[in-house]
Amino acid sequence: MLLRTDLLFGHAALRSFICVMSMAVKRPLIATRIGLASALTLSCFAGACQKTDAPPGDRPEKDKDRPAAAASVKTTKSPAKPSDDQMKDVVIKTTAVAGPIYMLEGRGGNIGVSAGQDGVVLVDDQFLPLAPKIQEAVRALGKGDAKFVINTHWHGDHTGGNPEFGKTAPVIAHENVRKRVSTPQQLRGEVIEPLPAAGWPVVTFQQSASLHMNGEEIRLVHFPHGHTDGDTVVFFTGANVVHMGDHMFNGRFPFVDTESGGDPVQYAANVKAVLDQIKDDTRIIPGHGPLATRADLIAFHKMLVDTIETVRAGKKAGKSLADLQKAGLPEYASYGAGFIKTDVWIETLYQSLK
Ligand SMILES: [Zn+2]
Repeated sequence: MLLRTDLLFGHAALRSFICVMSMAVKRPLIATRIGLASALTLSCFAGACQKTDAPPGDRPEKDKDRPAAAASVKTTKSPAKPSDDQMKDVVIKTTAVAGPIYMLEGRGGNIGVSAGQDGVVLVDDQFLPLAPKIQEAVRALGKGDAKFVINTHWHGDHTGGNPEFGKTAPVIAHENVRKRVSTPQQLRGEVIEPLPAAGWPVVTFQQSASLHMNGEEIRLVHFPHGHTDGDTVVFFTGANVVHMGDHMFNGRFPFVDTESGGDPVQYAANVKAVLDQIKDDTRIIPGHGPLATRADLIAFHKMLVDTIETVRAGKKAGKSLADLQKAGLPEYASYGAGFIKTDVWIETLYQSLK
C-alpha cells in the first residue's frame, strides 16, 4: 500500500502517513489500527475527494451572537482565524480529568489531552492563533509535544490549530473531516475556505480506529449524521473518560449542522448510544461547556428527546414555526442561554422533523 501511494504522491501528507506507519512498526504500543482507512481514504490522498455542498462548523465567537438568518453571505479566508486581538486575552485552563487525561479550555471546542509515558495525544485544537498557548499548556504537563492529533469533526473551532500541530503530529479523523477541511464549505450563510494542506487529516477511517498509548486503548468511534457527517467520539477506555466532540453541549441547546449532514434525531440517538456504553462514574469532556458526568449527559439527552417530541407534536398539530417559537420551551429555558438560542433550536427541529 505504501509503495502504491508513493507512486501517486510525494507530499508532506504522505511523509507524515509513512511516519505514522513507521512509528507503529517501531513502537508496538502505538500500533494504530487503521485497516479501515480504505480505498476511499486513498482516493483522498490522490486528490480525488469531491467537493461537497455541505458546510462546516462553528463560527468564531465574534459571529456567534449574530442570528443565522441575518448572516450575510461572505467569503472568509479561513474559519480558524479570529483576529489576534480577539485571541490575545484568552487563557488556556487545564483541568486534570482522570489518569493521564486532561481537559484544556480556551476558546472554541474543549480539548482533550492524553499525556503519559508514551507521549501526548490531542483531541481537537481550537483556533490557529491559540496554538502557541495550547502548545505551552501541553508542554507544562511534562510529556513533550503532541504525537497525534484527533479531530472530533471538521468545524473550525475544533480543527483551527491543525496547520500548526499537523506539522509534527499526524492528524487522525473520520474520512468526511478530511473531505470537508480540504474543500470550500458553506456554513450558516458563509463560505469557508479549506484549511491549508498541512492541517488536513493524514490518517482517516470510516468506522473506528484505536491508538494504544499511555497504558490504554484510546478508541475512536464514528457516530453517523449527528452533529455533522464526520463525528468521532473518543473513548479513553482505561482512564474511563469520554470526549464527546460536539455531541454534547453541556447544559445548552446544541448546534446541529444540518448543512454538513447533521440531524437532530440521529444526534439524540447517538448520545443514547454513548450513554449505553459508559459507566456511572465515567468522566465526560463535552465539545462545549464544563466537564461533565454521566448524569449530565442523561439530562442533556432527556432535553433532546423532550424538545424533539414537543416540536414534533406541535408540527403534527398544524402549528407554525412562529407559533412554536412563541410558546418556547419553558422547561428548558436555561438551555437557550448559549450559542444556540431557544428560537434557533426550535427552528432546527422544526425544519428537520418530518
Ligand atoms: Zn462543531
